[in-house]
Amino acid sequence: MKLTEEHQSLRRTVREFVDKEINPHVDAWERDGAFPAHELFKKAGKLGLLGVNKPEAYGGMGLDYSYQMVVTEELGMCHAGAIPMALGVQTDMATPALSRWGSDELKREFLAPAIAGEVVCSIAVSETSGGSDVAAIKTVAKKDGSDYVINGSKMWITNAAQADWLCLLANTGEGPVHMNKTLIIVPAKSKGVTIGPKIDKLGMRASDTCPVFLDNVRVPQKNRIGEEGMGFMMQMVQFQEERLCGATSTLRGMESLIDQTIAYCKERHTFGQPLIDNQVIHFRMGELRTEVECLRSLVYRAAEDYIAGTDVTMLASMAKLKAGRLAREVSDSCLQYWGGMGFTWDNPAARAYRDTRLLSIGGGADEIMLGIICKLMGILPGKKKKPTS
Ligand SMILES: Cc1cc2nc3c(=O)[nH]c(=O)nc-3n(C[C@H](O)[C@H](O)[C@H](O)COP(=O)(O)OP(=O)(O)OC[C@H]3O[C@@H](n4cnc5c(N)ncnc54)[C@H](O)[C@@H]3O)c2cc1C
Repeated sequence: MKLTEEHQSLRRTVREFVDKEINPHVDAWERDGAFPAHELFKKAGKLGLLGVNKPEAYGGMGLDYSYQMVVTEELGMCHAGAIPMALGVQTDMATPALSRWGSDELKREFLAPAIAGEVVCSIAVSETSGGSDVAAIKTVAKKDGSDYVINGSKMWITNAAQADWLCLLANTGEGPVHMNKTLIIVPAKSKGVTIGPKIDKLGMRASDTCPVFLDNVRVPQKNRIGEEGMGFMMQMVQFQEERLCGATSTLRGMESLIDQTIAYCKERHTFGQPLIDNQVIHFRMGELRTEVECLRSLVYRAAEDYIAGTDVTMLASMAKLKAGRLAREVSDSCLQYWGGMGFTWDNPAARAYRDTRLLSIGGGADEIMLGIICKLMGILPGKKKKPTS
């Protein structure tokens, strides 16, 4: 992956946005358990940061995925994971399928305002019955005249408290579970949509995560993304950007935490010397930086293949798996060297420890990533046959 002056210029724009519009407010947003998504997304949209790799016809910049990757990477300099996650939902989770397979009319109505930052969107796949097992979702969309009538519920929906529309996966047929689902854009103000109370989370405190209930929600069939029955397949493709985004978003945050920990360990003395002079500590910092660089290489390679149109299921799953584990390792190790300070709520290592824990669960848990990797390696055992009596 060769980063050009254009990439660096975009990186500087993101950095200024983070320094000016996010970091001065982020502690208050974390304390309040909310951030002003509409206000912030509007500012991001004005800078073009919500449509870097989306088509120009809908207000995007029309650039390749490497530019979006740079945006995601630099958003990692936010002092809380909640904000990059909320922005990532808008750019890399709720809109890739719409951008790729949506009709022109649907893109004008829903994608263009998302790119402009005039609306906030959510991806609504998970349910209480189907988080890891996406095929097991129960929400149903039945055709009625020119509409779909949707019934069911969604769980763990990021941005839901502020969302204007949801990219929702529902069962639209009786066929095999991988061929009976459809992605549908559901305006959040539709009659019958109820956004449940915010879930009190371990981390990502400024981001809102809510259940969503759908009771006879009527949306026009033209809100369907692409062909009916192809939703599961589209979501699997959409997951690739989500997983690359998740992995990329950890890089700068980990580097920054390592740097902050080094600075602290230079200042803090025990037994008459700076903490950093203990070999166990400076070697650990060196090891962690090496691991971050390895992850960066994997992420960049996956992005390069994605841009070339190669199937990146394997590399994106590996990158997500590695990022989740490494982010836990980095935050845990750094927290240790801050001593008691690391165990206080607002400490940067403590916040990273809480926030990054999600990456090994959300968007496909570590075990799901391993299942995909093993399947592609040809070593995943097939489904066991039921014993015959
Ligand atoms: C803060 C937050 C934000 C989220 N945002 C969104 C969102 O915006 N939109 C959305 O659709 N979803 C969202 N999710 C849901 C997230 O994707 C799911 O939580 C995740 O996919 C795991 O599903 P689950 O919670 O139902 O866990 P389960 O499916 O019940 O799995 C529990 C655990 O069991 C293990 N496991 C599961 N299956 C296997 C297996 N086959 N082999 C071995 N181990 C296994 C894993 O360790 C897993 O963590 C969010 C979740 C959180 C916590």
